Amino acid sequence: IFLTFEGIDGSGKSTQARALATALQQDGRDVVLTREPGGSTGAEAIRRLLVEGTADRWSPETEILLFNAARRDHLEKTVLPALSRGAIVISDRFADSTRVYQGAARASLRPLVDQLHDLVIGFEPDMTFVIDMDAKAALSRGLARNSGEDRFEDMGADFQQALRAGFLDLARMAPDRVQVIDGARDMAAISADVLAIARRFIDG
Ligand code: C5P
Repeated sequence: IFLTFEGIDGSGKSTQARALATALQQDGRDVVLTREPGGSTGAEAIRRLLVEGTADRWSPETEILLFNAARRDHLEKTVLPALSRGAIVISDRFADSTRVYQGAARASLRPLVDQLHDLVIGFEPDMTFVIDMDAKAALSRGLARNSGEDRFEDMGADFQQALRAGFLDLARMAPDRVQVIDGARDMAAISADVLAIARRFIDG
Protein backbone atom coordinates (compact mmCIF):
# COMPACT_ATOMS: atom_id res chain seq x y z
CA ILE A 1 0.00 0.00 0.00
CA PHE A 2 1.37 3.35 -1.09
CA LEU A 3 0.34 6.43 0.95
CA THR A 4 1.50 9.98 0.25
CA PHE A 5 1.38 13.31 2.07
CA GLU A 6 1.07 16.59 0.22
CA GLY A 7 0.67 20.22 1.18
CA ILE A 8 2.21 23.65 1.05
CA ASP A 9 5.50 24.44 2.78
CA GLY A 10 5.01 24.66 6.54
CA SER A 11 1.73 22.71 6.49
CA GLY A 12 3.09 20.05 8.85
CA LYS A 13 2.90 17.23 6.30
CA SER A 14 6.38 15.89 7.16
CA THR A 15 5.50 15.72 10.86
CA GLN A 16 2.28 13.91 9.97
CA ALA A 17 4.05 11.46 7.65
CA ARG A 18 6.48 10.59 10.47
CA ALA A 19 3.68 10.25 13.02
CA LEU A 20 1.72 7.88 10.77
CA ALA A 21 4.80 5.78 10.04
CA THR A 22 5.52 5.43 13.78
CA ALA A 23 1.92 4.53 14.64
CA LEU A 24 1.66 1.90 11.90
CA GLN A 25 5.02 0.44 12.96
CA GLN A 26 3.67 0.18 16.49
CA ASP A 27 0.77 -1.83 15.03
CA GLY A 28 3.49 -4.29 13.96
CA ARG A 29 3.39 -3.44 10.26
CA ASP A 30 6.33 -3.22 7.86
CA VAL A 31 6.54 0.52 7.02
CA VAL A 32 8.95 2.44 4.81
CA LEU A 33 8.97 6.23 5.30
CA THR A 34 10.44 8.13 2.39
CA ARG A 35 10.35 11.57 0.77
CA GLU A 36 10.53 13.54 -2.45
CA PRO A 37 12.45 15.06 -4.00
CA GLY A 38 14.80 12.34 -2.77
CA GLY A 39 14.16 8.99 -1.13
CA SER A 40 16.97 7.07 -2.87
CA THR A 41 20.70 7.75 -3.26
CA GLY A 42 20.35 9.02 -6.82
CA ALA A 43 17.23 11.04 -6.12
CA GLU A 44 18.84 12.68 -3.07
CA ALA A 45 21.71 13.77 -5.35
CA ILE A 46 19.18 15.25 -7.78
CA ARG A 47 17.41 16.92 -4.82
CA ARG A 48 20.60 18.81 -4.03
CA LEU A 49 20.76 20.03 -7.63
CA LEU A 50 17.15 21.17 -7.35
CA VAL A 51 17.13 22.96 -4.01
CA GLU A 52 20.60 24.55 -4.04
CA GLY A 53 21.50 27.61 -6.08
CA THR A 54 19.58 30.69 -7.12
CA ALA A 55 15.97 31.00 -8.22
CA ASP A 56 16.93 31.14 -11.94
CA ARG A 57 19.19 28.09 -11.85
CA TRP A 58 16.87 25.94 -14.00
CA SER A 59 14.22 26.74 -16.55
CA PRO A 60 10.75 25.47 -15.56
CA GLU A 61 11.00 22.71 -18.18
CA THR A 62 14.43 21.53 -16.98
CA GLU A 63 13.16 21.58 -13.41
CA ILE A 64 10.27 19.28 -14.38
CA LEU A 65 12.71 16.88 -16.05
CA LEU A 66 14.86 16.78 -12.90
CA PHE A 67 11.85 16.12 -10.65
CA ASN A 68 10.85 13.26 -12.95
CA ALA A 69 14.38 11.83 -13.03
CA ALA A 70 14.44 11.91 -9.23
CA ARG A 71 10.97 10.35 -9.01
CA ARG A 72 11.85 7.55 -11.42
CA ASP A 73 14.94 6.64 -9.39
CA HIS A 74 12.99 6.83 -6.12
CA LEU A 75 10.29 4.58 -7.60
CA GLU A 76 12.77 1.99 -8.95
CA LYS A 77 15.10 1.87 -5.97
CA THR A 78 12.86 2.47 -2.97
CA VAL A 79 9.08 2.49 -3.55
CA LEU A 80 8.53 -0.50 -5.86
CA PRO A 81 10.92 -2.89 -4.05
CA ALA A 82 9.26 -2.09 -0.70
CA LEU A 83 5.75 -2.51 -2.15
CA SER A 84 6.64 -5.84 -3.71
CA ARG A 85 7.77 -7.28 -0.38
CA GLY A 86 4.42 -6.16 1.06
CA ALA A 87 5.50 -3.05 3.01
CA ILE A 88 3.37 0.05 3.51
CA VAL A 89 5.23 2.90 1.82
CA ILE A 90 4.62 6.45 3.11
CA SER A 91 6.08 9.25 1.01
CA ASP A 92 6.35 12.89 2.04
CA ARG A 93 5.41 14.35 -1.40
CA PHE A 94 5.06 12.53 -4.72
CA ALA A 95 3.71 13.38 -8.20
CA ASP A 96 0.95 15.69 -6.91
CA SER A 97 3.64 18.13 -5.77
CA THR A 98 4.90 18.39 -9.34
CA ARG A 99 1.36 18.80 -10.66
CA VAL A 100 0.81 21.70 -8.28
CA TYR A 101 4.24 23.40 -7.99
CA GLN A 102 5.44 23.06 -11.58
CA GLY A 103 2.10 22.38 -13.26
CA ALA A 104 0.08 25.22 -11.77
CA ALA A 105 1.70 27.56 -9.28
CA ARG A 106 5.19 28.25 -10.61
CA ALA A 107 4.51 27.83 -14.32
CA SER A 108 1.42 26.73 -16.22
CA LEU A 109 3.01 23.60 -17.55
CA ARG A 110 0.41 21.04 -16.53
CA PRO A 111 0.24 19.40 -19.99
CA LEU A 112 4.01 18.78 -19.96
CA VAL A 113 3.85 17.56 -16.36
CA ASP A 114 1.07 15.10 -17.24
CA GLN A 115 2.77 13.84 -20.42
CA LEU A 116 6.05 13.20 -18.63
CA HIS A 117 4.27 11.51 -15.73
CA ASP A 118 2.49 9.15 -18.13
CA LEU A 119 5.72 8.46 -19.99
CA VAL A 120 8.18 7.77 -17.16
CA ILE A 121 6.19 7.29 -13.93
CA GLY A 122 2.67 6.03 -14.68
CA PHE A 123 2.04 5.21 -11.04
CA GLU A 124 -0.29 6.73 -8.42
CA PRO A 125 -0.54 6.37 -4.65
CA ASP A 126 -3.40 4.32 -3.24
CA MET A 127 -4.26 7.19 -0.93
CA THR A 128 -3.03 10.77 -0.57
CA PHE A 129 -3.43 13.08 2.44
CA VAL A 130 -3.43 16.79 1.65
CA ILE A 131 -2.65 18.63 4.89
CA ASP A 132 -4.55 21.82 4.19
CA MET A 133 -4.07 25.11 5.95
CA ASP A 134 -4.14 28.85 5.48
CA ALA A 135 -1.21 29.99 3.36
CA LYS A 136 -0.18 32.83 5.69
CA ALA A 137 -0.16 30.63 8.78
CA ALA A 138 1.84 27.94 6.97
CA LEU A 139 4.23 30.53 5.60
CA SER A 140 5.11 31.87 9.02
CA ARG A 141 5.77 28.31 10.21
CA GLY A 142 7.68 27.39 7.06
CA LEU A 143 9.90 30.44 7.00
CA ALA A 144 10.58 30.12 10.71
CA ARG A 145 12.49 26.95 9.99
CA ASN A 146 13.97 28.06 6.67
CA SER A 147 17.71 27.44 6.70
CA GLY A 148 18.27 29.76 3.75
CA GLU A 149 19.73 26.90 1.74
CA ASP A 150 16.53 26.00 -0.12
CA ARG A 151 16.01 28.22 -3.15
CA PHE A 152 12.31 27.33 -3.22
CA GLU A 153 11.43 28.45 0.28
CA ASP A 154 11.10 32.20 -0.12
CA MET A 155 8.28 32.65 -2.57
CA GLY A 156 5.73 34.69 -0.64
CA ALA A 157 2.10 34.45 0.38
CA ASP A 158 0.55 34.69 -3.11
CA PHE A 159 2.60 31.73 -4.27
CA GLN A 160 1.64 29.68 -1.20
CA GLN A 161 -2.00 30.65 -1.81
CA ALA A 162 -1.80 29.39 -5.40
CA LEU A 163 -0.29 26.14 -4.14
CA ARG A 164 -3.06 25.65 -1.62
CA ALA A 165 -5.69 26.18 -4.33
CA GLY A 166 -3.82 23.73 -6.56
CA PHE A 167 -3.88 20.97 -3.95
CA LEU A 168 -7.58 21.55 -3.25
CA ASP A 169 -8.28 21.37 -7.01
CA LEU A 170 -6.49 18.03 -7.20
CA ALA A 171 -8.59 16.75 -4.32
CA ARG A 172 -11.76 17.76 -6.16
CA MET A 173 -10.56 15.99 -9.32
CA ALA A 174 -9.60 12.76 -7.52
CA PRO A 175 -11.90 12.51 -4.49
CA ASP A 176 -11.50 8.74 -4.17
CA ARG A 177 -7.74 8.98 -3.78
CA VAL A 178 -7.16 12.37 -2.13
CA GLN A 179 -8.26 13.11 1.44
CA VAL A 180 -8.17 16.74 2.58
CA ILE A 181 -7.18 17.05 6.24
CA ASP A 182 -7.70 20.29 8.19
CA GLY A 183 -4.12 21.14 9.17
CA ALA A 184 -4.96 24.16 11.32
CA ARG A 185 -5.72 22.02 14.40
CA ASP A 186 -3.19 20.78 16.91
CA MET A 187 -0.83 18.09 15.78
CA ALA A 188 -2.33 15.28 17.88
CA ALA A 189 -5.86 15.85 16.51
CA ILE A 190 -4.57 15.81 12.95
CA SER A 191 -2.53 12.64 13.40
CA ALA A 192 -5.46 10.88 15.10
CA ASP A 193 -7.60 11.68 12.03
CA VAL A 194 -4.96 10.53 9.60
CA LEU A 195 -4.29 7.32 11.51
CA ALA A 196 -8.00 6.41 11.67
CA ILE A 197 -8.41 6.94 7.92
CA ALA A 198 -5.21 5.03 7.12
CA ARG A 199 -6.11 2.05 9.35
CA ARG A 200 -9.59 1.85 7.85
CA PHE A 201 -8.11 1.92 4.35
CA ILE A 202 -5.36 -0.65 5.07
CA ASP A 203 -7.66 -3.09 6.86
CA GLY A 204 -10.61 -2.55 4.53
O1 C5P B 1 8.91 19.15 1.15
P1 C5P B 1 10.29 19.65 1.13
O2 C5P B 1 10.50 20.86 2.03
O3 C5P B 1 11.32 18.58 1.38
O4 C5P B 1 10.58 20.17 -0.37
C1 C5P B 1 11.82 20.77 -0.71
C2 C5P B 1 11.58 22.04 -1.48
O5 C5P B 1 11.24 21.77 -2.83
C3 C5P B 1 10.45 22.88 -0.90
O6 C5P B 1 10.86 24.23 -0.82
C4 C5P B 1 9.33 22.71 -1.90
O7 C5P B 1 8.55 23.85 -1.94
C5 C5P B 1 10.07 22.47 -3.20
N1 C5P B 1 9.36 21.63 -4.17
C6 C5P B 1 9.05 22.12 -5.42
N2 C5P B 1 8.42 21.34 -6.33
C7 C5P B 1 8.12 20.06 -6.04
C8 C5P B 1 8.43 19.53 -4.77
C9 C5P B 1 9.06 20.35 -3.86
O8 C5P B 1 9.33 23.29 -5.69
N3 C5P B 1 7.53 19.30 -6.96
